[in-house]
Amino acid sequence: MEREQLEVDVLFVGAGPACLASALHLNTLVQAHNRAVESEEKSGPRLDDLTCLVIEKGKEIGSHILSGAVIDPKGFDELLAAYPDKKPPYDCEVADDAFYLLTENRAIRSPITPPFLQNHGYYVASLGKVVRWMANLAEENGIEVYPEFPAVQLLFDNDRVIGVRIGDKGRDQHGEPKANFEPGIDVLAKVTVLGEGARGTLARQAFQRLGLREASQPQIYAVGVKEIWKVPGPLEPGLVYHTLGFPTGISEFGGGFIYTMRDNLVNLGFLTGLDYRDPDLDPYHLFQAFKTHPFVSKLLAGGKAISYGAKAVPEGGYYSLPRLQADGLLIVGDSAGFLNSQRLKGIHLAIKSGILAAKAVFDALEKRSSTQKVLQQYSVSFEASWARKELWQARNFRQAFQGNFLSGLIHTGLQYLTGGRGLIDPFPTLPGHTLMKRKEAKPPTQEGSPQASFDGQLTIDKLSDVFLSDTAHEEDQPCHLKVQDLDICHNRCTVEYGNPCQHFCPANVYEIDSGGKEAATPVLKINFTNCVHCKTCDIMDPYQIILWTPPEGGGGPDYKNM
Ligand code: SF4
Repeated sequence: MEREQLEVDVLFVGAGPACLASALHLNTLVQAHNRAVESEEKSGPRLDDLTCLVIEKGKEIGSHILSGAVIDPKGFDELLAAYPDKKPPYDCEVADDAFYLLTENRAIRSPITPPFLQNHGYYVASLGKVVRWMANLAEENGIEVYPEFPAVQLLFDNDRVIGVRIGDKGRDQHGEPKANFEPGIDVLAKVTVLGEGARGTLARQAFQRLGLREASQPQIYAVGVKEIWKVPGPLEPGLVYHTLGFPTGISEFGGGFIYTMRDNLVNLGFLTGLDYRDPDLDPYHLFQAFKTHPFVSKLLAGGKAISYGAKAVPEGGYYSLPRLQADGLLIVGDSAGFLNSQRLKGIHLAIKSGILAAKAVFDALEKRSSTQKVLQQYSVSFEASWARKELWQARNFRQAFQGNFLSGLIHTGLQYLTGGRGLIDPFPTLPGHTLMKRKEAKPPTQEGSPQASFDGQLTIDKLSDVFLSDTAHEEDQPCHLKVQDLDICHNRCTVEYGNPCQHFCPANVYEIDSGGKEAATPVLKINFTNCVHCKTCDIMDPYQIILWTPPEGGGGPDYKNM
């Protein structure tokens, strides 16, 4: 098939904070270089007429970015030093932060907030609003930003990355072209920067083909399930609370978070480690149960959920980072795993990774060579940066919770006293899906996750929440969730794990249907139009036979950015 080609100098895949920061910082470096050449402080040619393109699979910039984050401003302060009159649209400064232990009925405020969860001087923000603002700033500076451009494939020349292929538009459910068919174009670039978020499709292709994870520990993920509520108030903005305990107790790694914003908005959610043991566990139900705790329900009383979403986050930290570059390629942000799970923060690290990557891209443009040797500057400068120092302190934190929650807490204390080292360094890590127990081996103490009874007010069923995420996909298109062997689902998984996809998907995408007949063979139904793109199925499926791929451009959630 003939495909149009578009040639650019630098291509950024994913309009999140990492890629947008990288594009902006590259612009800063190029402008500074040109000024220096003009004033003869620097020899060599100007870098003129560079084309930098940021592409994004969402319908609009920010529509796949879930609102509500606490931002350590360090990354933005560094990025915006070159834009002194610009300030990110933070919602409010953190007014109070606290750490609570939730028992069945009580909330016990920790007399001291652990240092890594202290948020004074930080900001609560709608990340969707922030990335929209960054994209506008990028466009003002001559950077092209295209939404509805889902990159589906990395393009290679031998093992050198030369760009990406954009997904076709207008194929029917069998893959046949419809009347409105448009083949996806190939975007060719001297350097491609991947910042697609956690478990990115192209990053995965790069890892497999180029062996970029060979020296890394497996990545550990968590899934965050989240709602935004409007409450009657008055509510103080800038309250930041993290919780432990109810409803998971200490059986699995997980915890709640509550951030308040102006206009009586509450962002709240529950993070569940995607290395749990119980195949019946349902992260969505845990979140609904979390809201029934008196500490939370009191805050939400009289209010209404107005938005919903879910997202996987990479928690493995330093030892789970892949090799960050290859010929023609750099990986930034959550795609690489730049997140500090101890601090529950990644935006400042994503921005820093973008800044460091931009410096390496700039060197490559100046040297007219984007080999891995030239781009390696990215890893070298990361190793010398505050980002590395921060991740190094937490290098064994999440790993220590894979065995047992209580011993994880003890290890955390020891790691804190020894600069992150603890008793074992590096702490061994297993891919999360391998820890799921078969049904017959389910620990006797675990009777499954609490099944929230949905009252339609405080607790909401999955489909009603999906409605609040404004998720939409063209229905007549190939299913973007590729299950590679349905026989495994129907015959093995049903018996061995009880089809945990029904539970771990927070959008009711997977349903086992036996047509109401007990003796009938169950059939897996995939309601892909509900998918909120959280990637949990790709990560947690015990047989690793579910492959999440980008659907037709513009499909997916359309998160409101309050
Ligand atoms: Fe998340 Fe997969 Fe469900 Fe989509 S289908 S919402 S990616 S678990």
